Amino acid sequence: MSRAGFQRAIVVGSGPNGLAAAVELARHGMPVRVLEAHETIGGGTRSGELTLPGFVHDICSAVHPLAVASPFFSTLPLTSLGLEWIQPPASLAHPLDDGTAVTLERSIEDTCTNLGRDAGAYRDLMKPLVDDWQHLISDLLGPLRIPSHPFTYARFGLRGMLSAQRLATAHFKGERARALFAGNAAHSMLSLDQLFSASFGLVLCAAGHAVGWAISRGGSQKLADALGSYLRSIGGEIVTGSRVESVDGLLDAATAVLCDLTPRGVLSVAGDHLPENYRRKLARFRYDVGAFKIDWALSDPIPWKAEACARAGTVHLGGTLEEIATSENAASKGHHAEKPFVILSQPSLFDASRAPAGKHTAWGYCHVPAGSTFDMTARIEDQIERFAPGFRDCVIHRRVSPPAELERYNANLVGGHINGGSQDVRQFFLRPTSRLYSTPARGIYICSASTPPGGGVHGMCGYFAAQRVLAGS
Ligand SMILES: Cc1cc2nc3c(=O)[nH]c(=O)nc-3n(C[C@H](O)[C@H](O)[C@H](O)COP(=O)(O)OP(=O)(O)OC[C@H]3O[C@@H](n4cnc5c(N)ncnc54)[C@H](O)[C@@H]3O)c2cc1C
Repeated sequence: MSRAGFQRAIVVGSGPNGLAAAVELARHGMPVRVLEAHETIGGGTRSGELTLPGFVHDICSAVHPLAVASPFFSTLPLTSLGLEWIQPPASLAHPLDDGTAVTLERSIEDTCTNLGRDAGAYRDLMKPLVDDWQHLISDLLGPLRIPSHPFTYARFGLRGMLSAQRLATAHFKGERARALFAGNAAHSMLSLDQLFSASFGLVLCAAGHAVGWAISRGGSQKLADALGSYLRSIGGEIVTGSRVESVDGLLDAATAVLCDLTPRGVLSVAGDHLPENYRRKLARFRYDVGAFKIDWALSDPIPWKAEACARAGTVHLGGTLEEIATSENAASKGHHAEKPFVILSQPSLFDASRAPAGKHTAWGYCHVPAGSTFDMTARIEDQIERFAPGFRDCVIHRRVSPPAELERYNANLVGGHINGGSQDVRQFFLRPTSRLYSTPARGIYICSASTPPGGGVHGMCGYFAAQRVLAGS
C-alpha cells in the first residue's frame, strides 16, 4: 500500500515508461494492471515486419544507449528474460563529402584519431564526463533536484546549457569534430542555436564511450517483452487490445492511475477530473517538430563510400555542422530542409535475425515540422545516395511513415514528435508542468516521456512516477 492509501494501480499504456512504472509498483507489492491499446506491448519499443516477410524492423526506437545506461533497467534481470544487447564495433559513423567518415568509437582515444587537430579538445570535453559517467547519468536521468554529485553536474551543466552551435564552434576548430558533435546534438529535435541543444550532444557522445550505442538482438521488441515477462513474474497483469477512453470507472479511492500518455492523451482520458487552470497548462504543452521515417528492406548492405560506415550501427547523414544546423533550424521554423539531416540505423549488419539470409534492413528518419504532410522520401534517399551511391538499387521495399502515420500508430507521437513533446528550455525540467508526475486530481499521475527526464528508452519517467505513487505525493 502507498502512503496515500492506494492499494492497487492501473497503468494506461505499455511503453517503456508504462512498463517501468508497473514493475516498480509491483516490486513494492502493489497489484498492478497495464492496459494497452495495441494488441502487442512496448509502445516505442515494438518491432515488426513492416515491409516484407522475414524483414524485422524497429517501428520506433532502434538504438539504445539510454536503455543500457538506465539506472532502473540495470536493476532488472532483463538479460535472463531474452534481452541481448549487441554492441556494433563503432557506435556511430558520420560520413563527409571527402569520402571519409568520422566515427564515435568505444574508446575516446580511438575517436580522437579521427579528429585531427581537435583530438585534444575532444578528449578534454569527453574525459571528465566519461570518468564520472555513473554519477552524471544518475543525476541526468532524473527530475530536477539537488544533484547528488553537484560538481560533476555543474561541470556538465555549464556546457550543456549552451546551444550546440555555440559549443561546437567555440570548442572545436575543424569540420570533423564539429560535424560529429552537431549530429549528436540534433537528436534533441531542437534547432541547434537553441539553449540546451548542446546537452544532447554531450550525453550521446559520452554514452557512446561509457556504455556504447547497443541494439537489441531480434529488435527493440525484445526489451519490451523482457520487461513484460518480468512484470508478470512478479504478479503484474497486462491487458492488450484495451484502449482507455476515460479514467472514469478505473479511479476510486484505493486506485492510482498512471498515464503513459502525453498531456494531450491525459486531457483526453482524464480532462474531466482536472481543474481548468491545470488543463490549460497541459493544452499549452508543445510538440514543435515531428519525424518522417522510412524503413527499407534491402537486397544488399548499404554501399557506403567510406568503409568505416559499415562498422557502425548508426550513421548520421548531413555533412557539416552548418548543413545540419540549417536542416534542424528549418524543421523548427516550419520548413522542410532541402538536405535533411538523416539518422540511419543498419541493424542487420550485426544481427542476422533481422532479415532473410544475405538481405538487410535499414531504418531512417529526418525532422520535419510537426504534423507535416510533405513527402521527404526523395530528399532522405538523396542524402543516403550522397554517401552511398547505388543505395536505391538495393531497395526491395520501403515503408514510409510521415508524422500523421506515426501518430495514427501511437497517439503519444503527437504531430510525429518522438520524445513526448519538445525539450527546449521551457519544457526541459518542468515537464509537463511544475507538478511533474503528479496532477491536481488525487490518484491521477503521468509517467510518460512528457515528464522528466524526457524522451528516449530508459524507463526513468515511469520509475519516478511510481515513486510518487508509493510516497503518496
Ligand atoms: C521513429 C522513432 C524513433 C525513435 N528512436 C529512438 C531510439 O533509437 N532510441 C531511443 O532511446 N528512443 C527512440 N525513440 C523515442 C522512444 O521510442 C520514446 O521516447 C519512448 O518510447 C517513450 O516511451 P513512453 O513509455 O513514454 O511512451 P510510448 O513508448 O509512446 O508508449 C505509449 C503507449 O501507450 C499506448 N497508449 C496510448 N494511448 C492509449 C490509451 N488511450 N489507452 C491505452 N494505451 C494507450 C500506446 O499504444 C503505447 O503503447 C524513437 C521514437 C520514434 C517514434
